[in-house]
Amino acid sequence: MAFLVVLPLDPPVLVLKGLTVEFPTAEGLIRAVDRVDLEVRRGERLALVGETGSGKSVLLLALLRLLPPAARVFGEVRYDGADLLRCSADELCRLRGRKLAYIPQGAGGALNPVFTVVFQVAEPLMLHFGLARTAALSRALSLLDRLGIPEAPKRAFDYPHQYSGGMKQRALVAMGVAAEAEVLLADEPTKGVDWARREEVLALFAGLEGKTILAVTHDLWFAEKFAHQVAVMYAAQLVEVSPRESFFDRPLHPYSCALLAALPARGLEPLPGYAPAHARYGEPGCRFRERCPRVFDRCREEPPLFEHRGRQVRCWLYAGGSKGSGQDL
Ligand code: SF4
Repeated sequence: MAFLVVLPLDPPVLVLKGLTVEFPTAEGLIRAVDRVDLEVRRGERLALVGETGSGKSVLLLALLRLLPPAARVFGEVRYDGADLLRCSADELCRLRGRKLAYIPQGAGGALNPVFTVVFQVAEPLMLHFGLARTAALSRALSLLDRLGIPEAPKRAFDYPHQYSGGMKQRALVAMGVAAEAEVLLADEPTKGVDWARREEVLALFAGLEGKTILAVTHDLWFAEKFAHQVAVMYAAQLVEVSPRESFFDRPLHPYSCALLAALPARGLEPLPGYAPAHARYGEPGCRFRERCPRVFDRCREEPPLFEHRGRQVRCWLYAGGSKGSGQDL
């Protein structure tokens, strides 16, 4: 499968600085995303992986200001010079859809059940480009056909409940790419898709040549096939950022190692215990320490994100710095 080559010096198109998201609850503030710094380069495909509840989907929604009003969001999200967290509603509206498109999860009813699929794909074209209804429907139909909806001229006019999981995912991708946005933000693209159909979803994303894609996924099979870079979240923090091959050949963070060891092809070794509850995030120390086989005294302090041989890792084992004096696992 051919992927665009991204040079390390390509400029970042999307830059997150200290992105933090908090939600007020009866028990106090919950920090769902904690001081995340991340860059996505032009044309890069980045997979953001981690367990359910690690904060990855909240991060994605925060980028586009799609969180409920009660959410408190701090930090910066820079796209093309604009700070998406602070730009005006008009500016944000101009960017969303045209420049930055969100592709929601497919199985959970992200499509509106009362409209035909083709209408939902056509809607952004009418909204963002002022296309007449007939022209927008025609372009939406051709897009659905191109994205592999079988018998598209007929099935495009079906309602979402008449689609399989794989077809719904294609329709969601069609909605995301209809306005030809430069950056696609995809939430769990393979969630709810049959095992046999995941290859189709992968081919779909691989065919989006030239797009910058940030995909949140718990599906490491998809991440390995799809991504240039893998970023790992644990308990609201970024704990590793590595090129795809390095990550799958030689993961750095003990949590990354455990994630890979739990894959069927790598021994199906379960990770013991649970991630700490949100209420414990403020406690001192590494958030992985109660599950970590490498825990040692220093882990009572919170580790920063260390640079390590061109990669990033939040673990005291790598405190030696980028010249490689830290340990390899
Ligand atoms: S800092 Fe310590 S507890 Fe945390 S991942 Fe590294 S070795 Fe394990």
